[in-house]
Amino acid sequence: MQYISTRGQAEPIGFSDTVMTGLADDGGLFLPSEIPDLKPRFEELAALSYPDLAFEIIRLYVDLADDVLRELVNRSYAAFDAPDVVPIRRLNGITMLELFHGPTLAFKDIALQFLGNLFEVLLQARGGRLNILTATSGDTGSAAIAGTRGREFMNAIVLYPHGRVTPVQELQMTTVLDENVHNLAIEGDFDDCQTIVKALFRDPDFKQSYSLGAMNSINWARVLAQIVYYVYAALKVMRDRKVDEISFSVPSGNFGNVFAGYVAWRMGLPIRQLILATNENDILSRFFNLGDYSRGEVVPSMSPSMDIQVASNFERYLYYRVGEDPARLRGLMEAFGRSGLISCDDLPPRPAGDPFCAGSADRDSTIGTIKQFYERFGYVLDPHSAVGVYVGMQKSVPQSPLICLATAHPAKFEDAVVAALGKCPARHDRIEALQGKPTRRTVLPADENRVRAYIAEHLHSTSKR
Ligand SMILES: *Cc1c(COP(=O)(O)O)cnc(C)c1O
Repeated sequence: MQYISTRGQAEPIGFSDTVMTGLADDGGLFLPSEIPDLKPRFEELAALSYPDLAFEIIRLYVDLADDVLRELVNRSYAAFDAPDVVPIRRLNGITMLELFHGPTLAFKDIALQFLGNLFEVLLQARGGRLNILTATSGDTGSAAIAGTRGREFMNAIVLYPHGRVTPVQELQMTTVLDENVHNLAIEGDFDDCQTIVKALFRDPDFKQSYSLGAMNSINWARVLAQIVYYVYAALKVMRDRKVDEISFSVPSGNFGNVFAGYVAWRMGLPIRQLILATNENDILSRFFNLGDYSRGEVVPSMSPSMDIQVASNFERYLYYRVGEDPARLRGLMEAFGRSGLISCDDLPPRPAGDPFCAGSADRDSTIGTIKQFYERFGYVLDPHSAVGVYVGMQKSVPQSPLICLATAHPAKFEDAVVAALGKCPARHDRIEALQGKPTRRTVLPADENRVRAYIAEHLHSTSKR
């Protein structure tokens, strides 16, 4: 399988190179040159365990030997504390797909445990080092650190918005004292962090001399690992409920999770509705409902991992929306860079069957949903999952069963749960163990040059200057 850039001005490359490169040199994102059809294999795949299914799906997209991939996948999902990795819980009409049983208790572990192991395998084969540079709104950072810490040939440099992640999220990052972990608290918002990271990746000299690699959701391997749970849940629920289509509701920020669902749909998975749920930072739901994608100010919400205005993976969807035409996509992205706006008037109409629909939940709806779910089912939702459940209940059609993705363990967002229920009935040992531990971090202004200087000071350049 070859990978192409959405902007069409980078050479096609194989899977391993794609993973090591992150963002393409032309500023675009990598996509597979073709998407395999799974339909003929549904029956066989529905019977598989999660790791076995992950092996079968990931195998279609990679250039690794089967035994290497099998071991990599098994090792990645052995780190989860649920035997079935992503438990499916049926609560009356709604099915929850729990994606938070990994080391940092958010869905990002599913991709980042895999990606950490994958990087290690690739570095062992190729030699060299990799410095993982990540911008995080909270959960990616800790999951990237959990996937990187203690590894010999890798460092993690994590930029997070100072004071805008929850105390637990911050502790999950800053209590990791391994020498190869660098936490940078940036005095700005998540988009500032992401802008700095993107600028450094777009500087080929800097990127090469510091061997920068990405764990952000721009890395195709993350999308790839996330496709698996859509297929897993859909096939199991369709078989058990004897239906031939399902819907998903997905709490969304950077469009990485829901884009994996879109790829699953392009692989033939019968997704009737792919419901994109946002909080008050609703650029994505405005796009699908009103037809404009326009940058606004980030407002802090109850679900901070979704406090994002520019969703990097959205470019991958736009690429398909413009009929896989890189020149047209380039024009749109350039115009967006200038004006901060993409209008649906500049796009071809949505193709028949495109499963997207969208909505948003504000603070009151999020709190109300957490309350209602606890009262009705004794089930505690975290605020991100609650956004997905709220919008899912509003938008879903009765003909197709709704699967809501639960993206974080509620104990990780205790304040929000307490705001809704007056207490937090959900606990987790790993979170309680964080309190009082020593921490390490560096506070920096939202200035690309200061981050460059930090990297130059703390990491070895590999160029012979
Ligand atoms: C990252 C995150 C999201 C948003 O996922 P995207 O891939 O950025 O759309 C939702 N919920 C939680 C708990 C997260 O950590």
